[in-house]
This record gives sequence, C-alpha cells and structure tokens, in this order.
Amino acid sequence: MTKQNVLVSDTKSGLSMAITVAVTNSSSLFTTAAQKPPAVPGTTYITISKKKLLENLEINSGAKINAWVDSMRASSPTHLKSTPSLLSVDDVHDSWTQQHPSALEMFEQITNASKGKQIVMFLDYDGTLSPIVEDPDRAFMSDAMRATVRKVARYFPTAIVSGRCRDKVYSFVQLAELYYAGSHGMDIKGPSKGSQRKKGAEAVLFQPDTASEFLPMIDEVYEALLEKTKSTDGAIVENNKFCVSVHFRCVDERKWVELAQQVKSVLKDYPKLRLTQGRKVLEIRPTIKWDKGKALEFLLESLGYANRKDVFPVYIGDDRTDEDAFKVLKERRQGFGILVSKTPKETSAAYSLQEPAEVMNFLQRLVQWKKSSRRQFRASRKSEEIN
Ligand SMILES: [Mg+2]
Repeated sequence: MTKQNVLVSDTKSGLSMAITVAVTNSSSLFTTAAQKPPAVPGTTYITISKKKLLENLEINSGAKINAWVDSMRASSPTHLKSTPSLLSVDDVHDSWTQQHPSALEMFEQITNASKGKQIVMFLDYDGTLSPIVEDPDRAFMSDAMRATVRKVARYFPTAIVSGRCRDKVYSFVQLAELYYAGSHGMDIKGPSKGSQRKKGAEAVLFQPDTASEFLPMIDEVYEALLEKTKSTDGAIVENNKFCVSVHFRCVDERKWVELAQQVKSVLKDYPKLRLTQGRKVLEIRPTIKWDKGKALEFLLESLGYANRKDVFPVYIGDDRTDEDAFKVLKERRQGFGILVSKTPKETSAAYSLQEPAEVMNFLQRLVQWKKSSRRQFRASRKSEEIN
C-alpha cells in the first residue's frame, strides 16, 4: 500500500482540501476504514472510490470545473510539495519509483523481456521528445533528439502519437520514415519514405469514419473559443484539426477557473463534443470512442502484428491522454508503457523516465543494444558457417 497526496474539491462549497490517500495496489478504494492512517493535524482523511475520484476529474457535460482546476494544481510539483503529508515528498517519490522503476535502471530486464520479439516504438511528442514550453508553437525538439529518433526508426517501426494535428507534429519532427498519429490518433499516416516496414503498410492513412463529420464543428468551436477567451491574458487556443486545445500554461493560476468556465460555456452548445484534460490544457474532442490506445492497436494491426505473440510494443508518453495507450499494453500483456514524469502520478505505465533527456538516453541505449545484438548474431552465424 502506498500513500498519495490528492486535492479534492467540494464543488458545492467551492472549497478544496488537501487529503492524503492510501492507495492499495488492487483495491478499488483509495482508503478503507481498516487502512485509515492515524490522524495528523491539518490532514483530512476521506473514503472515496477511485472510480468516483477519476470521474470527478473528467469534465464532460455537467462538469466540475473546480475539480479539474484542482487536479491540475495538485499535479504540479510546487503544489505537491506544499500538500500536507504523512510521508515526505522523497518518501512518496521513492515508493512510487519502486512501483514504476526507471526504464534506464531496468534497461537489461526490459531488453531481456523483448528478446525474440519485434519492438515497435510509440512516442508521444510534447513533454516526451520536446520540453514543455510556454508557447505551444515553439515546442521544438533538439537536433540530437531528432537524430536519435531517426536511428530508432532504422531498427524498429516507430510512430509518433500526439494530440496535435498531424501536420503540426510532422513540422516539428520532420522525419518522413515514421508513422504519425495526430489529433489523439484520429488522423494516422504511414511513412512516406525509406521504410523497412511490412509490405502494404507504407500507405496507411486512417481517420475514423465519423471523424471528418466533426471538422466543420471543430472549426466553429475553435472560432468561438478564440472569441470567448480573448479577455483572458495568456490563453492560447490551438486548432488541432480533429480537436481543439486550450492552453493554460501562460495564464495566471488565479484565472484558471474563469478560463475553464469560458471553455465550458462554449461547449454547452455542442453535445457531440467532449472535454478532456491534459497537462495545463483542456482539449475538446468528438465524442467518438477513439484515443491513443485505439491508435496504438490500429497501428499494430496495420503493421501485421494484431494477433502475433512476437511483438513488443513500447509506448513512451507524459500525459493523461497517454494512459489510454498504457492501459491497452497492460491489458494485452504485451510490451510496456513508460511514463515521463518527475513527480508521482497514478499510471498504468510499468516504468518511468524523468524528462525528455532521459527519454533520449533510453532510446540511444536501445539502438546500441540492437546494434550489438545484431553484430553478435552475425558473428555467430559466420562461425557456424566456418565450422
Ligand atoms: Mg505529451
């Protein structure tokens, strides 16, 4: 059992309270009477179902603006540190990294588990390959990261899976040999050059049947959100083709609730769109059941790995929307997810990395490992032939 700090909001009173919750590995409850830790001044204990808490963090129709804003605050490192706790921040972090160890430290175990299987690499973009920056239009990846991803794609089928529109994420990555799944996987395209993929997979181009029906509506909502949020300093509205993002990172925290309410007021006229949250961002998407997890499954199928046991998908991402992909891997019991985060977060990923620099290090080691195992394979073939 581990303990986590969570901010829970009472939406009726508008009050927020910091709570320490005991998280069991298998139980659906955060804490039960039997598990309740001893009282500590300034700390309130509540019993709340995990499902309920997660529901409260989603803002769909009838939504809970305060709960979302609070969860965003709770997930920021400064707020985590200020939250009363039975354990020190270091203790919480240590406990979390025991459950989600560093993919760098566990590198050997990971490569051992992948032996004899085809690694397929799935990479989120923002916060995974590029640093999170204030202006989303300037989220550039470094040349070193680009060179690393290029090498990765030489050895493993590689896809970028992003909430951004496909063209935008391509303009950042600029590698024609990759698969790109934009708009949370609603817009997928295969490599346009030099791929070593299976025959027939090169021309993959996919959009869920109903997604294109939403395009005029998304454009309309984008315009409405631009208008509605222009009074809020720092608010950035981004049209991602099949979804719209409203970025909070340049907005004064005291204005977050106001901005979230502006977004909600626009959305109330569009019951076919839903609202989800990411890292300091609210995203408006079609209600169709499509997410990064579905995109991962679609790509595996397109690559011919749908029913194969010898595939080892690796998904690296930093955000809530990446959890859909982590869950798919967990349920399939294939490969694993790696969460990029410096702070403990509830996740279905098996491993963790702290930041994009560690992601680059991990990818470089993977390429080196693959190169040397190929060399060893060739050398052993040669010696067999000689003998
Ligand atoms: Mg991200």
